[in-house]
Amino acid sequence: MAGVYAGPVQDLIDELGRLPGIGPKSAQRIAFHLLKLSKEDALRLARAIAEAKDRVAWCTQCFNISEGELCGICADPRRDATLLCVVEEPRDIVSVERTGEYRGRYHVLQGAINPIEGVGPDQLRVKELLVRLEDEGVSEVILCTNPNIEGEATALYLGRLLKPIDGITVSRIASGLPVGGDLEYADELTLGRALEGRRVVD
Ligand SMILES: [Zn+2]
Repeated sequence: MAGVYAGPVQDLIDELGRLPGIGPKSAQRIAFHLLKLSKEDALRLARAIAEAKDRVAWCTQCFNISEGELCGICADPRRDATLLCVVEEPRDIVSVERTGEYRGRYHVLQGAINPIEGVGPDQLRVKELLVRLEDEGVSEVILCTNPNIEGEATALYLGRLLKPIDGITVSRIASGLPVGGDLEYADELTLGRALEGRRVVD
């Protein structure tokens, strides 16, 4: 597909094609859709991207998205600091929050172990997780990674890493979630049950 279109059009297609889940055909379709928009509409999208990149950063504690140093959850003193729910992405926090079953805090790994894509523990926020366990008086870590190959591999790795630490229980959300899926596709009732039915990792 490369180089079929001239300069800026091809640049746009290339950039869109780098987005997750967008193949070359979709990239081309979206690019031509954007070109057909009024300048005002197209620039609104560009501005929304620029503004989000300017104003939103990572929470320095849990790596959720945040407009300040700490995200709303880390800054909330009513959250139970002894419970730490480990998720892959900030959007997973939204899924868990929707269940209304969880009052602890979170830690966002910003990905999952994926050898094919070259993602190992060093590319994730694992070191930061270990520091938090020492500093924050956590007594239970709930591994809430996705029920797919990468999420299970990540939970297995973290389970082995964290289990030997004194004074910390490591648990994994119960099965019963759609296998191979992402947490964001689970309804809040199912995810709430999976949280409630979490099992201690052995
Ligand atoms: Zn936070």
